Amino acid sequence: MNRNNTWASWPDEAGRFGDFGGRYVAETLMPLILDLETEYSKAKADPGFNALMDDFWTHYVGRPSPLYFAERLTEHYGRGRIYFKRDELNHTGAHKINNCLGQLLLAKRMGKTRIIAETGAGQHGVATATVCARLGLSCVVFMGATDVERQKPNVFRMKLLGAEIIPVTSGRGTLKDAMNEALRDWVTHIEETFYCIGTAAGPHPYPQMVRDFQSVIGREARAQILDREGRLPDAIMACIGGGSNAIGLFHPFLEDETVQLIGVEAAGHGLDSGAHAAALSGGAPGILHGNKTYLLQDEAGQILDAHSISAGLDYPGIGPEHAFLRDMGRAEYLTCKDEEALEAFQLCARLEGILPALEPAHALARLPDVLDKIPADGLMIMNLCGRGDKDVFSVAEHLGVKL
Ligand SMILES: *Cc1c(COP(=O)(O)O)cnc(C)c1O
Repeated sequence: MNRNNTWASWPDEAGRFGDFGGRYVAETLMPLILDLETEYSKAKADPGFNALMDDFWTHYVGRPSPLYFAERLTEHYGRGRIYFKRDELNHTGAHKINNCLGQLLLAKRMGKTRIIAETGAGQHGVATATVCARLGLSCVVFMGATDVERQKPNVFRMKLLGAEIIPVTSGRGTLKDAMNEALRDWVTHIEETFYCIGTAAGPHPYPQMVRDFQSVIGREARAQILDREGRLPDAIMACIGGGSNAIGLFHPFLEDETVQLIGVEAAGHGLDSGAHAAALSGGAPGILHGNKTYLLQDEAGQILDAHSISAGLDYPGIGPEHAFLRDMGRAEYLTCKDEEALEAFQLCARLEGILPALEPAHALARLPDVLDKIPADGLMIMNLCGRGDKDVFSVAEHLGVKL
């Protein structure tokens, strides 16, 4: 059991969230992980570190992001009051920079000079390369060879920012293979290298550390809604890839038991089709990326590639804290198919004048279902975690429009 058995006090000393999490890594990695844990604890308690991060958040990232009343969507559904947490307004267009900034300021403090990261769609790679450029750190990004082909604009962006891209050809040349390669690289370049993980997964302390850095979303949202409405929301929701933006929103509300926490996984072509990215709703427990959690896997335990219309959601697992919150009944996880996300994308564009990324469009699509779960005058907050400019070509293609 953890220290005092409250929701927010997890993980326990061993980095476990109940049955999930932990650190399943090669023995050679253990000293690195333990060192990281110690250094992170020290940094977290250091007012200087936190002040530096606040300064970057304010002047580089553009925090706090607004809490916006989505008036026309609210009118459209005719019940509740819908708020968007506008994390798409951050520098680089999504929430990922919150985490990269935290981890790379920590890396710098630890005297590391070489940053490695893995990326699937390229968004975490771009955020990492951005912060590396700003902090003067060298940046190596592992990317499946298949993804390098599929994500050319992001590959070019990373290069412009000074990063080196290493295409990974093992396995199917996708995200899982890039993750394995990054872990291997870390062991062979111990002294100077820091591994920057892009979602609330990986071996302990990463799920906790990424959550802490992303919790700025929930802390701001909580203060903003209390200021605007004088009370807590009835429900909060976010889309789930590995679960970092969702846990960042949820965490400061975990102890507020009246607040329903709702995550939305990508159901791709449908849970029955096998082509989806819903690790909780359509996966089973197993071990990947150094932690125990729900994973997409076949009968033999081989990890399956995830599918989603939104490249940012096709992670084959989910952060271990979500696995725990779901199994304990504190949070609920819904799913959304490709075509529903595409509809929601267009509705949000027309009614609010905001092009959402296809990732949060999955959460948008479930708005009416969540409004059904709260009182008619209930309040809800959805994390609009990314902007849709990056998805315009993909949306055009799906709508059969030639640009
Ligand atoms: C990467 C990404 C996601 C998925 O990652 P999480 O760790 O689940 O937050 C969601 N939305 C956007 C815009 C992203 O870039």
